[in-house]
Amino acid sequence: MSESFVYNNKIKPNKKLGQNFLIDKTVAERMVDTEGLKEDTGVIEIGPGTGKLTEKLLKKYSKVVCIEIDKRFIPMLSDRFSKFSNFILINSDILKVDLHEIIEKHLAGKNVAVFGNLPYYITSPIIMNLLENEYPIDCIVAMMQKEAAERFAAEEGSRNSGAVTLAARYYSDVNILFEVGAESFYPKPKVDSSVVRFDILKTKRVAPSNEKKMFEIIKAAFSQRRKTSANAISSVIGIDKSRIEEILKTLGLDTKIRAERLRLADYCKISNLLDKKEEISN
Ligand code: SAM
Repeated sequence: MSESFVYNNKIKPNKKLGQNFLIDKTVAERMVDTEGLKEDTGVIEIGPGTGKLTEKLLKKYSKVVCIEIDKRFIPMLSDRFSKFSNFILINSDILKVDLHEIIEKHLAGKNVAVFGNLPYYITSPIIMNLLENEYPIDCIVAMMQKEAAERFAAEEGSRNSGAVTLAARYYSDVNILFEVGAESFYPKPKVDSSVVRFDILKTKRVAPSNEKKMFEIIKAAFSQRRKTSANAISSVIGIDKSRIEEILKTLGLDTKIRAERLRLADYCKISNLLDKKEEISN
């Protein structure tokens, strides 16, 4: 079996699984040749599908572990790449596998990079899962919908900044590498895409006294973007609005500031001050 099985409609792309296959090999090459990754890097590929990216990864990197949910592709991929001794294929859901275990079993001692032309319906859960679980990975190179890329890579404090912008910045340096037009895929999606690189930081960008609380505050602030951040945080978390406004004032910030204008360092300070006040009042 080969990729033409899909293009000839013998395997019908499953929309629900976000199956838009890369047909432009130069895009795959550009992704794989991302700067600074050594050939002995161990790779995890999310959703190999027809294997366009997989082939390039196998030719460059020392080991490639592919995780594909759709069992229809498993025989085709096994067959096509059986000649590569560095190829490992797992038929599973990326959101359900234990990557700690997979890395320990197959990629121990290597620098690890995650690649994927991501299924767009679960782009954010996949990226957040990779970042929040603090897997021993060095970098993620991911194709995603252009709008999602712009959200992840937005400038802090800019209009496009969102909860995922700040979460991604907490764990990584985020850069859009290049854009890819819809015509590079089969079937052709309605949207354009971008390839984004996340370089995981060895030390997280800020040091909140309570990480969970900081993210609760960020999520609360962005959950009601039309309100002021103080209003949104107070209504979602149930803290007195005046307490939050007092903290904003202490930090020299406008009490009416909106969620997107606050930077990660501001959220860290707000969360630390709230944490301290709670300790005192307990
Ligand atoms: N890598 C191929 C390419 O570039 O042509 C396919 C990319 S396609 C956008 C997304 C792939 O992810 C599909 O093969 C799909 O079956 C797979 N996929 C979707 N959901 C998944 C999940 N939860 N876990 C693993 N793979 C998934």
